[in-house]
This record gives sequence, C-alpha cells and structure tokens, in this order.
Amino acid sequence: MFDNKESRTNLSELGEFGLIDHLTRYFEIKRTSTNIGIGDDAAVLNFEGDETVVTTDLLVEGVHFDLSFMPLKHLGYKAVMVNLSDVYAMNAEATQITVSIAASNRFPVEALEELYSGILLASKKYNIDVVGGDTTSSTAGLMISITALGKAKKEKITTRSGAKANDLLVVSGDLGAAYMGLQVLEREKQVFKANPNSQPDLEAYSYIMERQLKPEARKDIPELLQALEVQPTSMIDISDGLSSEVIHLCKNSKVGANIFEEKIPLDPTVISVCEEFNIDSTMVALSGGEDYELLFTIDQKDYDKIKGNPNLTVIGHMTEENEGMHLITRANQKIPIQSRGWNSFEDANDEE
Ligand SMILES: [Mg+2]
Repeated sequence: MFDNKESRTNLSELGEFGLIDHLTRYFEIKRTSTNIGIGDDAAVLNFEGDETVVTTDLLVEGVHFDLSFMPLKHLGYKAVMVNLSDVYAMNAEATQITVSIAASNRFPVEALEELYSGILLASKKYNIDVVGGDTTSSTAGLMISITALGKAKKEKITTRSGAKANDLLVVSGDLGAAYMGLQVLEREKQVFKANPNSQPDLEAYSYIMERQLKPEARKDIPELLQALEVQPTSMIDISDGLSSEVIHLCKNSKVGANIFEEKIPLDPTVISVCEEFNIDSTMVALSGGEDYELLFTIDQKDYDKIKGNPNLTVIGHMTEENEGMHLITRANQKIPIQSRGWNSFEDANDEE
C-alpha cells in the first residue's frame, strides 16, 4: 500500500485546485448526456426526456471500511460499485458520478492517487463519467462521498413498492460470499498481528475475498431483463442482507413473502467456509450483507422468460400482507423473517 511508496507528497504541496486537477487528469467524458463535466462551477447533463435517477452514499473509515486489509484502489472501486448498485436497483442505467473526499494528513497525494485509480477503473468498466466532486482535509481518517446519476424511461423505473401477492421473488448471483470474505480477512488480520511473518495461503478463499474487496454492481441485470422483456414489479439491491431487503420490499409493497431455504443460491466456497467458521450458511445469506446483488419480483406470467437463466434464481414468492414474511426451512418449518441487517450505527457502538 501507500506506506511502501518511496515518494510521499503532502496534500498541502499541491493545494486544493492543483490536487483535484492532478487526481482527475485521466478522467474522460464518454457519455453524450454529459454536456459539461469537471472544470466549471457545475456539471451540465441532459437526459433528453428520460427520468433522472440520483443516489448518494457516504463511506467513513473505521465504520464502513478498514484500511488494514482494504487496499485504497479497491476502496475507490467499491465506493463506486455501492452507488451504481442503487442505480441498477431502480432498473436504470448509471451514467455519471461525483466524488468527494476528506482525508487527514496521514494520507499523502500518492494514497489518493491509488484511491482514484480504483475510481477510474470502475468508471471505465461501467461506462460512467466522473463529472465533479471536491477534496478537503479531515482531522481524522478518510471519508468518501459519491453521488451517482442514472437515467431510465419512466415506465422502466422499478421501485420497492410494486410487488403483488403471488409475484415470484428472484435474486441475481449468489449470497453470503462478501460477509464470509470479511470473516476471513478479519481472522487473517488477527493472525498477522500475532505473527507479522506469517505467510497465509488464501488461495481457497479468493472468491469470497474478492466479493468483499472488489464487488461488482449488477449492471448486466437491468440489461438482461430488458432483453428478456421482463418488467420487474419491484426491486432493491442487497446491501444489508437478504432478510432486511425482503422486509423493505414487503413493507413498501404491503405484501408478505415466503422464501425457501433450499432455493437460496450459495457458492460452494461459502458453504465450506461457513463449515470452517461453524456459522449457518442460510443465516449468512439472510443477514450477511454487501453482496450487491439485485432482489426483485416478477409477475408469474414472466416465469418462462427467466426460467433456467444462470444469473437468476427464484427463491420464493410474495403473499398477502396478513400472511407475514417467512423462511420455509429444508425441514419444512416456517420461521418468521427478522431484520438482522448490517447496521453501521450498531457496529460503531459495538467495538470490541
Ligand atoms: Mg440500496
């Protein structure tokens, strides 16, 4: 990481404007909807009749990320993904972001360059323009605030509130891997503290560590649904764990839900690492968080269109509101779904 760099330039050497110019020098405008990007008092965008989607997210060192195992380049990439995921959860196309950073003098220019290299990589891969932002000093730690913009035709916009009883509940990808990746990283951090010369073999954990350190937002899912001619009735991204997202969909849509435990998609690595840590893998999928998969509902008539698609799994269905929200276990028990989503306020007060 930046500690190893030979050169160390203090942030004050460049000055605020010099720093922004320096950090954003490789960003290029790619989108026709960006009329004016970085370099004026404000950006100017034009979505030509499409709806505009806006979402923002603030990440704070020590609360949302731990730089002892999170490389700054990955952090920059992940900060973008977290925001794009919310745009895709509206069934929209992400188009621009703004990036604001507060950093203490512990971070040299080279550290922010690393961070921005992750942001640059994400913006290229996801075809979005960086159109503004700010850099300022902080008295303690690093903070990153990203705002993402997107566009969609009005009739395509998908909220949390359109699910109906008997709609199918569908999830993309697999669940629980990011949480188990975090467990492995935290364990290795303790091992390293005890013995700085240890050379851990983490090969077996590469998938779950990557899901934690370098998640990918599901840009492909709104595109896939469009190609399949499926309009989801409601949608949300999974940032806090399956159970709390299901609760959001149910409450907003005024419906209940049944989820079938045997249908929850888990990567084989997650199953084996859960055994190693003696944690229930269903619990991890329900409460783990940070998967950045999409959870959505579709009308039953659309089932044939998504059936057998390797990106999508039907995990249950919606019910009438008075039936409540339940997990149907492999043993055919009906357990009420409770929110045990990841909560940064709880975690912050809960330091060991
Ligand atoms: Mg979200």
